[in-house]
Amino acid sequence: MSIQENYRILAAAVAAAAKRADRDPEEVLLLAVTKSVDLPQVQELYDLGVRHFAENREPELLRKTAAMPDDIVWHFIGPLQSNKVRKVVKNAQVIHALDSIALIERVDRICGEENRHPDVMLEVNVSGETSKGGFTVSEAAGAAKVAANCKNIHFVGLMTMAPNHAEEAVLHQVFGGLAALRDQLEKDLGLSLPVLSMGMSGDFASAIACGATIVRIGTALFV
Ligand SMILES: *Cc1c(COP(=O)(O)O)cnc(C)c1O
Repeated sequence: MSIQENYRILAAAVAAAAKRADRDPEEVLLLAVTKSVDLPQVQELYDLGVRHFAENREPELLRKTAAMPDDIVWHFIGPLQSNKVRKVVKNAQVIHALDSIALIERVDRICGEENRHPDVMLEVNVSGETSKGGFTVSEAAGAAKVAANCKNIHFVGLMTMAPNHAEEAVLHQVFGGLAALRDQLEKDLGLSLPVLSMGMSGDFASAIACGATIVRIGTALFV
């Protein structure tokens, strides 16, 4: 199928999942993850009106931001190495996966130096899989306090990844767990954390049922 057809089908599926959950479809952003494709495919989505794109590696982010129009909002969704922070901060407006206190502080300091003010999320390893990055659920409050006190970044929410090919019950545990943690942090710390970045090609409907506001979709756009 064409990218155009895939996009229409996915946008409709995202909206339908939101409606099933009694949510406003406008609340859920279909974030196009373009890490596995080249510029012509990015351009095709751009021509359809897509303006939010995501990359998970710094060299690919730089290559694509340099080549594409300036009205795109670029999201960095990968693990962020400390020596890549400056380039990522200069090229992405949203950073999804801050996963250590040192990294939060470094990103904030460099944002100050570069006069950049990205939205950021903290990655939380809700599933507990050792292969996944992120704060543990019990570390999250401490990290959230640090992020909330930063002057340059905008701490807006949480991000997680579910196990691959997980059953529905596990997905609900992981995505529901992130939503519950967000609610708890808002209450305990007096924060507003509207963003839940969760759900990918295989599990976005469950994530939306649990409150996702950004679903990060790659594979299903380009099959
Ligand atoms: C690649 C990637 C995605 C997209 O995954 P698909 O299964 O291809 O939709 C989402 N989030 C992160 C962090 C990724 O690296």
